[in-house]
This record gives sequence, structure tokens and C-alpha cells, in this order.
Amino acid sequence: MVRGALRPKSNFLGRVELFSQGEFQLARREGRELDTATEVSIISHNEALRSDFRGFAGAGLFSEWLLAVVSFGNEPSGPVYRLTEQVFALLDSGAPPWPVICGGVVRLLHLSGHGFSTDTCVACGAEIKGSTSWSHSSGGVVCGKCGENGFPVKSGVISFLSRAGNSSLESLARVRLWPGGYIQCHLLLKEYAQVHLERRLLLKSEKVMKEILDAGH
Ligand SMILES: [Zn+2]
Repeated sequence: MVRGALRPKSNFLGRVELFSQGEFQLARREGRELDTATEVSIISHNEALRSDFRGFAGAGLFSEWLLAVVSFGNEPSGPVYRLTEQVFALLDSGAPPWPVICGGVVRLLHLSGHGFSTDTCVACGAEIKGSTSWSHSSGGVVCGKCGENGFPVKSGVISFLSRAGNSSLESLARVRLWPGGYIQCHLLLKEYAQVHLERRLLLKSEKVMKEILDAGH
């Protein structure tokens, strides 16, 4: 948020844009809630995130996740910054939004201390084979023996989530799921996050993303 950036006489007009990446010089004063931006140089314009509706909706949804999951203060977080940079760069290059968002959200949850298990049962530690149950409160997959606290989740969703923890976002962007697969995956992540953050997530862009999908894009 850069207050006043769009005022006609602002130094930042036309330089600070939604989803662009820049290096800012800030003046910080004791006791003030907001710093004063004095200079900016743009690193990436990410133009396609404002001109392509798929990229725009995707960048909006990931931003909403950031606002919901990350706690704000003056502490820098390099890993979250680099993740955001990567998600925006992929969306800007025209990568399919759903796998990028779902993969990015998995990373974001892990980075913010809300990681989950996808390979071994969270209750007994057994390796998961065959049909899979999931438990939000236990923190991931549960085996057949411990399954009474879980509910069934398609194995394709679990293998995507598992892959999201280990492979690059570039390679995740090429993973195709069945129609509606990413919607299920995103819903699982959202419900999981709601249990662990103990509040409802209002993700307005989710609806837009679904409408784009329904319209056949
Ligand atoms: Zn178990």
C-alpha cells in the first residue's frame, strides 16, 4: 500500500502499479505507523498481471492468501518475498493460474508454520498406501487404521500437494488435474487454513477464478 501514489502530482504516478515489483527507499520515523516512500525504482512491471484477466485474477487470489496468512510487521521475510516474486513471474509469463496458486499456497502455508503431512499418517507415522483420508485438525493425511477422524480425499489431490512440497513451481505449473481438480484442491487448502488460522478466509478472487474456469478459459 502506497498512500497517495495515484495523486496527479505524485512522484510515483505510473511507476507504482498493482502487482509490479520495485525497490523503495523509505524514511522511517519513530512513532509513525506508516513510513514515507521517498524513491522507487521498478524491478519488474509484471504488465501481463494487469492486462490479462487470468493473470490478474490469479495474482489477486495469491495476494489475498498473503494478507490472510502472513502477519505484518517490520520483520523482513525473504522466503515469502521470493515465493511471491516467483508466483507473480509465472502468472505474468502466462502459466496456468490454478496449479501456480495451489502450489504457491502450499509453500506459503509451510513457510508460515502451518505445514501438513502428505506422505505419512499424522497420527501413527505409517506410510500412506491406497485410499487416503485427510484430517484438517491433525494436520494432513491419516492412514486406514487412524482414519476415523479423517474424510476421504482423491489421491490425485494428495499427490499434487505432496509434489508441491518438493518440486519447483515451474514444474508444478505443468501438472494437469481432472476438470474441477484444482477447485477441490484449493477448497481443501482453504478449509485447512481456516481451521489452523481459526478464522474464515474471505477470498473474493476465488469466485472470479471459478467464473473464468466455468466460462471455458
Ligand atoms: Zn495411522
